[in-house]
Amino acid sequence: MLQFQSVTKRFGPRAAVDRVSLTIGHGEIFSLLGPSGCGKTTLLRMAAGFESPDAGRILLADEDITELPPNRRALNTIFQNYALFPHLNVRRNIAFGPRLAGWTKARIADETDRLLHLVQLESHADHKPDTLSGGQKQRVALARALILKPRILLLDEPFAALDLQLRRRMLLELERLQREIGVTFVFVTHDQTEAMSISHRVAVMADGRILQSGTPREIYDRPANRCVAAFIGDANLLNGVLNAGDSGLHLATEAGPRIPIHQTEPWMTTGTAATLCLRPEHLTLCTAEPPAEPGREALLGTVRDAIYLGTHTQFVVAAADRDWIALQHHGGPGEARFLPSIGDDLWLTFDHRHCRPLPNA
Ligand code: ATP
Repeated sequence: MLQFQSVTKRFGPRAAVDRVSLTIGHGEIFSLLGPSGCGKTTLLRMAAGFESPDAGRILLADEDITELPPNRRALNTIFQNYALFPHLNVRRNIAFGPRLAGWTKARIADETDRLLHLVQLESHADHKPDTLSGGQKQRVALARALILKPRILLLDEPFAALDLQLRRRMLLELERLQREIGVTFVFVTHDQTEAMSISHRVAVMADGRILQSGTPREIYDRPANRCVAAFIGDANLLNGVLNAGDSGLHLATEAGPRIPIHQTEPWMTTGTAATLCLRPEHLTLCTAEPPAEPGREALLGTVRDAIYLGTHTQFVVAAADRDWIALQHHGGPGEARFLPSIGDDLWLTFDHRHCRPLPNA
């Protein structure tokens, strides 16, 4: 549906977007995720036509739109500030585009009613924007964009101004809208929870490049490199070097554990600095020294911090000269799980199978 082909945009000597290639499918909810300044907004603005690329092409449904002005592109953009007309009520705000496009009165009335119903604002049709909550304004902006039936809706940090509860409701609403009308949504966000919870696919950006794109699960379970693993979710990231020993390739970490590598990839050559990624849920805490087991690591440590998270507690454990993050599930009713206190000495164990060697860049 939307394709970036080796797109570059420079501001002065610096490339804000650097040779980005990306394909977004029809009906997808797609997020561009990355830290501030990584080029997400610039990429979105190029799709909308507000910036033109220095190199590369942008295609919409196989049509080259790189040189097309914004108003000739079959897409619509919602920016963070919603840009509603303050002097028009909700109904007139929604009907603004169709009026400009010369639709008949009857068609405008029908479609406006349909959209008011879709975003559940029928009872607010006569209200002015300044009497609405942030979430309601957001819904008006959505309706106003959707009434023109864009094939793609681009949303730049649309929920940044909303509180957490409203954001969750808006995300659910957007998913529902997507199911009902099948528009392709492209989001820009720096909030990984937002991106991971709503998107079918996510592209993680840094320094104008796409580090990885995939489903939220792929990105969490199989991050492409250290930077993605550090940005998405919590992770224990251990510095190390790849070595070929008698029993094959392994990753020797600074923290101690030597992790055998069973599946080699082209970047894995002897002497290469690499990172070991171990997610917090793959660490287990226990009071007694576990029996030695091949393929399982056990380190003696001390609990330094505990954060209660309702269903889980996140522990910070000092062991082997570093801090480890471990997530312990509280278990179901009647289940007695080991939940240590700050200052407790304990054993921290993990399985080599859950250790993922990653390239540093
Ligand atoms: P944020 O999440 O903070 O909005 P972003 O990932 O969307 O950040 P961009 O707004 O795309 O990042 O900016 C990428 C880089 O390009 C930044 O270094 C920014 O300063 C620079 N940049 C963006 N627009 C312009 C401009 N019009 N003129 C000069 N530099 C710009």
